[in-house]
Amino acid sequence: MTPSFSKLPEVYQNVIKFNSDRGWHPTSHDTASSVVIEAAELLELFQWQTGREKIDNKDPEVMHHLTQEIGDVMIYLFDLCELLNIDFVDAVDQKMRHNAEKYPVNKAKTDTHNEFYYSQKKKYREEKK
Ligand SMILES: [Mg+2]
Repeated sequence: MTPSFSKLPEVYQNVIKFNSDRGWHPTSHDTASSVVIEAAELLELFQWQTGREKIDNKDPEVMHHLTQEIGDVMIYLFDLCELLNIDFVDAVDQKMRHNAEKYPVNKAKTDTHNEFYYSQKKKYREEKK
């Protein structure tokens, strides 16, 4: 499925306007917490074998809940980016460039036991120290 990219600017502005129209001024901490809480609600739908089977079989009710939780996560991410003055498009672009450098296609494709993947993770974690 191709996302409705053309609607993104309007959707983004609607998200930002939603809080200001209501006089709500959440903190970045509250908003970051909400991202994680909503991500947990998303994960909950996959909980246990029954949940995974319903999603694998595209159960309409579960797919509806899944869509709602993905929306919740995205809304709070948009809010957080706005609060912290982060351009989410640039954030994703920068991170993808980093990931492409960290996990080159030629090495990642032949990494059948994830040895390269874990060695890269370890290397980058040690560089952060
Ligand atoms: Mg939710």
